[in-house]
Amino acid sequence: MSSQKIQAIRGMNDILPTQTPIWQHIETTIRQVLHSYAYQEIRLPLLEATELFNRTIGEVTDIVEKEMFSFTDRNGDRLSLRPEGTAGCVRAGIEQGLFYNQIQRLWYMGPMFRHERPQKGRYRQFHQIGAEAYGLAGPDIDAEIILMTARFWRQLGLNDLELQINSLGTAAARAAYREHLVNYFSDHHKQLDADSQRRLHTNPLRILDSKNPDMQTLIEGAPQLLEHLDEPSQTHFAMLKQLLDQAGVNYRVNPRLVRGLDYYNRTVFEWVTQKLGAQGTVCAGGRYDTLVEQIGGRATPAIGFAMGIERLVLLLDAEMPNNAPHIYLITVGDEGMQQGFRLAETLRDAIPKLRLLTHCGGGRFKSQFKRADKSGAKIALVLGEDEVAKQQVTVKYLREKQPQLSLAQSDLVHYLKENFFSDS
Ligand code: ATP
Ligand code: MG
Repeated sequence: MSSQKIQAIRGMNDILPTQTPIWQHIETTIRQVLHSYAYQEIRLPLLEATELFNRTIGEVTDIVEKEMFSFTDRNGDRLSLRPEGTAGCVRAGIEQGLFYNQIQRLWYMGPMFRHERPQKGRYRQFHQIGAEAYGLAGPDIDAEIILMTARFWRQLGLNDLELQINSLGTAAARAAYREHLVNYFSDHHKQLDADSQRRLHTNPLRILDSKNPDMQTLIEGAPQLLEHLDEPSQTHFAMLKQLLDQAGVNYRVNPRLVRGLDYYNRTVFEWVTQKLGAQGTVCAGGRYDTLVEQIGGRATPAIGFAMGIERLVLLLDAEMPNNAPHIYLITVGDEGMQQGFRLAETLRDAIPKLRLLTHCGGGRFKSQFKRADKSGAKIALVLGEDEVAKQQVTVKYLREKQPQLSLAQSDLVHYLKENFFSDS
């Protein structure tokens, strides 16, 4: 038997108990905002047919070309771990009939998988929270979605994210623009890096998205999609900007924002931070009005976005919420242990918000106090022989200078509610 240690798969992280409070804080905050806009949760499989992603995200995108975890299962079926949530959501919506004469506002949360080079803010298993709205074609829903994301950041206390928006127009407008772009980049073929030369005839719009600093001047000079926009898309975009202005949401029109997936049209947007280098996009989304039809559903306008939770964690890490126990319960002897168990359950019944850590495993007072201190609890409750005999409990403050006191066990709920949970 080999004794070599088995390690986690590269780019797939354990999220440890010291980290989960910030995750829970982000998830709870965002869930609450989603519900305040009446979005409903949908839960989808992690595995889908590879074909689904090829046909939605697009054959010549980074994700499908080189980032998917794909394999053949025991039946010979080609499957992939989902690299994003929209494709599965559209597949489910069509399959379950969610799009027939219905408006849907949906959200999801969970792990996504991409075989990328792991670095800060970029992993092979990462987590997204996303939302999708179906059946609404106007700029009002675009504005709603963007206002909702703005509210996420306000609720999380993130105030230095920049909103960038652009319009990609219709597929026809994009096809016309594509020709201008290919001409321009072909004229400067020598200045293109290897990636961009490859993209020139497969997916030239993606060249605009290049993060290579040497390419930036060339990209700045390229013709802009906004100049080739069809009339209805121009009107749509103008109304979106007006709605954002009226709501007091700041934005920058970034004519080079194209997004890495094929399915977008008209409105696209990203929320960007300067603090995470090339991993600066925290949240990204856009319209995809032709996707549902393209994979066999009835034509259904749609818009959605997804945010990377890891990148939010990196931005919020300093402000970890404290989820240490409020109380550490110390008991002495069998009697104490038994009475303590009953008391602890009574307290949990009476104060649902209470975080109470019961010392298990016995031991001397001193070592129990050491553990109580280490737990981060505000107070220790002590049931020694004396207390047990008199049905009392000693309250000892661990973090502040306060005299210890003795209470009847029957008065404890009242005391704790008065002093620590007066709002519940
Ligand atoms: P990037 O340009 O950073 O590669 P992307 O355009 O590939 O991002 P999307 O597919 O739009 O990203 O996914 C939405 C969000 O999910 C991103 O803005 C980011 O916050 C997060 N994300 C994407 N890929 C990863 C990853 N490999 N690790 C961590 N987070 C990721
Ligand atoms: Mg990417």
